Amino acid sequence: MTDNSLISLTATRRHRLFANFVMAALLGSALALLPFARLPMPHMEAFVPMHATAVFATEALTAYLLWTQFVLRRDPYLAALSGAYAFTAANVTLQLLVFPGVFAPEGLFGAGAQSAVWLWVTWHVGTPLLLTLAVAVRARHPGPVSVARGASLVALPLVLTLVSLAVVTQRASALPALLAGDGFARTHPAGIGVAIGLLGCGAWLALVVVTRLRTLLDLWLSVALCAGVADVCLSLTGGGRFSVGWYGARVYALVGSGTVLAVLIWKVSRMYAALEEANAKLHEYAMLDGLTGIFNRRYFDERYPAELARAAQDRRPLSLLLIDVDRFKHYNDQWGHLRGDECLTSVARTLKDALLRPQDFVARYGGEEFVVVLPDCDEVAALNTGEALRTAVELLVLAPASAPNSHITVSIGAATLAAGNPSDADRLLAAADAALYRAKAAGRNCVSGTARSDTSAAPRTVDDDARYPASGGAASLL
Ligand code: GH3
Ligand code: MG
Ligand code: MG
Repeated sequence: MTDNSLISLTATRRHRLFANFVMAALLGSALALLPFARLPMPHMEAFVPMHATAVFATEALTAYLLWTQFVLRRDPYLAALSGAYAFTAANVTLQLLVFPGVFAPEGLFGAGAQSAVWLWVTWHVGTPLLLTLAVAVRARHPGPVSVARGASLVALPLVLTLVSLAVVTQRASALPALLAGDGFARTHPAGIGVAIGLLGCGAWLALVVVTRLRTLLDLWLSVALCAGVADVCLSLTGGGRFSVGWYGARVYALVGSGTVLAVLIWKVSRMYAALEEANAKLHEYAMLDGLTGIFNRRYFDERYPAELARAAQDRRPLSLLLIDVDRFKHYNDQWGHLRGDECLTSVARTLKDALLRPQDFVARYGGEEFVVVLPDCDEVAALNTGEALRTAVELLVLAPASAPNSHITVSIGAATLAAGNPSDADRLLAAADAALYRAKAAGRNCVSGTARSDTSAAPRTVDDDARYPASGGAASLL
């Protein structure tokens, strides 16, 4: 069975080329923006909640999809990645809650002027650290773990988020001031910025070294980390809130959070398409007879009532042919069951090929018996079709003509319902069966029905009289 899971989906050359192109575009555009990063831009107050909501939605969805993959595979790498994304989703939400002027002038939870920016720092420190932790988990190649163990890898980052919230809101005065006015204070950002940038690069390097970016997931994680580095560079060289660097950084943050989600959605939609295809194939296989390749009894059981209902609705006739291979036991005895199987397959194919209207179908009813459903077909047409099928089988050459039991023939019973009615399904089958009995009783290799009696009848034998009495109680339906 091919492993089709997200974690083992190999990145192709085309994937790599595309991801490299995206990374080059991200870093190139960030570098191009750097000289203008400090330029002030119009204050779009709504941008903060809009951006936070978008990042939260993408990160939370990514965390959820990675978690569902973890539950399927129980690979702790996936749980650890889910934890990293859950951390970012929680962090960006809390940052929005404490952001001055969004929900309260100073921010919620007793936040100070530095709370939001310190949450930004915990976000940009925590995410690469957690991703590095996930990569370290992967490097150890642990086996499958329990859901509880995986849940702890998600819960830990969430607890860390709450701790950082408590610190940045309740102990804000003890933290160094990172913001002066609406920009970064001159004393701290350089050191902190370089450290955050290095953390991002370190996480990216760890990912590349450990995973070699062989899978699609790892490849696009690296793109996300690359976008994170661009985000940090612009944030820390930018002039402060609502500068070119500040807006640009947030766009990179959004791109970074969306890349893995895009891959996950792409993969899920591909899996869905593959599942649909597999389902259709499975359904088709389930409806085909393993030996002869034509439709099987299950298909007939499903389609026959549906055709009857359609015939009733359209007030059109529907005919049924029951076909039985004559003296097939003798054929088996003479040629062996393997040749018998081949013979049945040839008969089935011949019957199928002899049906010319697309709405008609033949199914293997069981053993050496076949059933043909002829929608919109009256008694006379049914007998004619039966006769055409009988002749087609009679012309089959399956064994040297001189050998005994070399000739294969079929007997056919036909029955017609003037206007189909699903409740008449069993009665119509019984009528066709009775007609088939009459065909056998009439000497085989003939068609018997209600509109016209036995065609091409051969002389009856003593054996026939015993097995198929001529007055065999054939119930005529019409
Ligand atoms: P009749 O003309 O009265 O129908 O005679 P018959 O010999 O065909 O009827 P009978 O019911 O006595 O025997 C049917 C035979 O069909 C017996 C069985 O071995 C054979 N048969 C049923 N299914 C298969 C199959 O899948 N492969 C092979 N090789 N033989 C089969
Ligand atoms: Mg039979
Ligand atoms: Mg038979």
